[in-house]
Amino acid sequence: MFSSVADVLITGIAGVSIKELVAVLFPHLARVCVDQVFRSGASVRIRARTATSEAKCPGCGALSQRRHSHYERRLSDTAVGNQEVLIHLRVHRFWCPNDACDKKTFAEQVPGLTVRYGRRSITAGEALGDIVLALVGRAGARLAERLAAAVSRMTLTRLIRNLPAPPSRLRRCWAWTTSPCGAAESTARS
Ligand SMILES: [Zn+2]
Repeated sequence: MFSSVADVLITGIAGVSIKELVAVLFPHLARVCVDQVFRSGASVRIRARTATSEAKCPGCGALSQRRHSHYERRLSDTAVGNQEVLIHLRVHRFWCPNDACDKKTFAEQVPGLTVRYGRRSITAGEALGDIVLALVGRAGARLAERLAAAVSRMTLTRLIRNLPAPPSRLRRCWAWTTSPCGAAESTARS
């Protein structure tokens, strides 16, 4: 838990704010508000939250501004400095405004960061996808643990089975601005 005496709060490095560090190292967190970055044991934890006021229902496409609740998702992210990174992301659940829709409530997704039911960030999923395409089995699991996130051989095998085709990788250039919640926002250009 966050209150563990083993936790170390990372407040920044002389001359560089934590906001600047997070913006550079974690561009995929540009759409969320990062509240805390801290170390817990051997892993780096990032506590973040969304600041969205509306979301689109994945069932019918209706736009909802009516929040139902919020909850925490835990996402495994790509490693930084050979350290495992876990994101504790607070997201909202919304009511669907369409009475005819099967979904009464739905969870919001963060573009570029989350997918429905995903336990990894999209970045980590892409990194694992690249690894499984190049290297499957025990060696792949070892490399994945070092470069991305700890996964089993069976998970890698499942991932490669689920891959429709080798993903096309876009070269992205990121431009930073500041959002109302204090997190950096980015503009992707392919
Ligand atoms: Zn709906």
